[in-house]
Amino acid sequence: MARIVIVGGGVIGCAVAERLSRDRRHQVLLLERDTLGAHASGAAAGLLAPYSEIGSVEFELASRSLAAFPELVERIERSGISVEYRAQETITPALTAEEEQRLQRGPGRWLDAGTALAEEPALSPTVRGASLVMEAQVAPLRLVRALAWTAVAQGAEIREGTPVGWMTVRAGCVQAVQIGEGQVKADVVVLAAGPWSPSLASPLGVPLDVRPIRGQLVTLRPSRPVLRRMLTWRGSYLVPKPDGTVVAGSTEEEVGFDPRPTAEGVAGLLQFAARAVPALGAAGVERVWAALRPATPDLRPVIGPAPGLPNLLLATGHNRNGVLLAPVTAELISERLP
Ligand SMILES: Cc1cc2nc3c(=O)[nH]c(=O)nc-3n(C[C@H](O)[C@H](O)[C@H](O)COP(=O)(O)OP(=O)(O)OC[C@H]3O[C@@H](n4cnc5c(N)ncnc54)[C@H](O)[C@@H]3O)c2cc1C
Repeated sequence: MARIVIVGGGVIGCAVAERLSRDRRHQVLLLERDTLGAHASGAAAGLLAPYSEIGSVEFELASRSLAAFPELVERIERSGISVEYRAQETITPALTAEEEQRLQRGPGRWLDAGTALAEEPALSPTVRGASLVMEAQVAPLRLVRALAWTAVAQGAEIREGTPVGWMTVRAGCVQAVQIGEGQVKADVVVLAAGPWSPSLASPLGVPLDVRPIRGQLVTLRPSRPVLRRMLTWRGSYLVPKPDGTVVAGSTEEEVGFDPRPTAEGVAGLLQFAARAVPALGAAGVERVWAALRPATPDLRPVIGPAPGLPNLLLATGHNRNGVLLAPVTAELISERLP
């Protein structure tokens, strides 16, 4: 049995652990520096949105991943953890003539202004119409935990509070990873350490250009439900959650590894929310937070063997869509194993 060591317990590492432990052909060990889902994976808004994210994600890969969710969810919810997956429409309003023309040419069902306001009465009355597509949402931290729980039930071992310091290489292959108590031998290492992945790859001479891009979010609690659907507009979004809150996101900022929300970021999100759905101006602010997305220069994920090190598999750089792309990433990694 090959020993597979996964570095990083975000949604990507946990999805890989679940997939690789499923057929019980490998011995799977996942090492997480902090706690599972402690960073972007636990912070994400939970949109599974290949159409709304066109331009920031490869559509084929994204729609394949979205299609894998119902079966995956059914299996991992046997853990007893509900991941709050819902297939749901996304509405994208047009506020300008240019947006109206662009959306009418897009993949969605076009609604004129009257129909859009009849469907979503809380939308700004200034909308010129809106487009609808069927997408989905999930609760990201619950997803991470259900994937991890399932992986463990399938025989994987998960260690939290276990930072990997470095990897050792001999004869063109990774041999072991270094953790506090010593070395852990590995036949294959999957590097899924999010924006921290380059700090482990670079010392091995592996070029991996993944940068942290900060995203901020605000959770609002309106006094009554205001949106039936998810809403996207100019890269921002509103996601109504099952507990009655609405998550407004998100900024994109290159500020190194600083994960703190800022007054300016939060103010911009509140302004966007109240502009799209005026009733949200009166909603309570329940939570403000931020995390770091792992992004590559071309915004595509890096999935597969590292150049020159065939048993080091890279699984990172998912930027705005790591939750959506987790199932397909796990599948692509499993196809690389003997
Ligand atoms: C504000 C915001 C909103 C988002 N919304 C969405 C959304 O709606 N839909 C969507 O699909 N995506 C969304 N994303 C993107 C998504 O969250 C990320 O693409 C995804 O979480 C990346 O997962 P990951 O496992 O690669 O990285 P991470 O979640 O960063 O996990 C990497 C893990 O590796 C661990 N680690 C790092 N170094 C080491 C080491 N040396 N040893 C051991 N462990 C280590 C870290 O502690 C961390 O837990 C959002 C992101 C942000 C910031």
